[in-house]
Amino acid sequence: MSLATELKPRRIPAGVLRKKTARIARLLELHLGIPEKRTHPPEPLEMLVATILSQNTNDKNSHRAYAELRRRFPSWGLVAAAKPAAVQSAIRTGGMAIQKSARIRETLEAVHRRYGKYDLSPLRRKSNDRIIEELTGLNGVGAKTAACVLLFSLGRDVFPVDTHVHRLCTRLGLAPGSRSPEKTYAAMKALVPPGKGHSFHTNLIRFGRAVCRSSNPRCGGCPLYAQCRFEGKTASKGLRHVPSRADHDFMLLDNV
Ligand code: SF4
Repeated sequence: MSLATELKPRRIPAGVLRKKTARIARLLELHLGIPEKRTHPPEPLEMLVATILSQNTNDKNSHRAYAELRRRFPSWGLVAAAKPAAVQSAIRTGGMAIQKSARIRETLEAVHRRYGKYDLSPLRRKSNDRIIEELTGLNGVGAKTAACVLLFSLGRDVFPVDTHVHRLCTRLGLAPGSRSPEKTYAAMKALVPPGKGHSFHTNLIRFGRAVCRSSNPRCGGCPLYAQCRFEGKTASKGLRHVPSRADHDFMLLDNV
């Protein structure tokens, strides 16, 4: 049976899904710990630019690109005024420098047009829904990026869903039948226990990288094996060790 095959969706009462979500969040905290929140979270505009740089590359390279951009251009105004080639040179290690440089410039211009400065701190006074509306109104900012800004920069209790979190939520049967991260995001809003957005999101990302990978998930010894509804799960490849925090890849969001 193909690994890509998920069990057919069936209607499951919301209360059952809520309890299951809480159980899985607890199990992940048991195995991976409660992820620490940043003492000094990044500013919303820093998060936006870091998210652009994180696309189609790994965390290490995107962090190097981000650090070099900030080193060469200490203010966002300098980035906006720079020649495209200079910005491309600074972010080259993150790949797709031409496209990313253009997107960064567009984002900075859109922010300046809307708020009169290169600063998104006016968002701090607004509701989650309003912030998502304003951010997704900027060219090229999607709902996932907006939710990441809410969670990691503004400390709001939301649950961003990217392709990896979407994969895990469908495999685990939390969002049965959902065919896109956007639909999973909408479904999970009502399921994630209050106060657990940061822990659950971060642990799912780490779990997805270390254990429940897109192809060849390490099902043997998986701590969520009993919860999993993935038809392609297998116990044949044993996982002897669920990695601790120290074993994980460098995470972009830990380093912005
Ligand atoms: S049993 Fe396999 S597919 Fe299911 S959550 Fe664990 S690693 Fe992923």
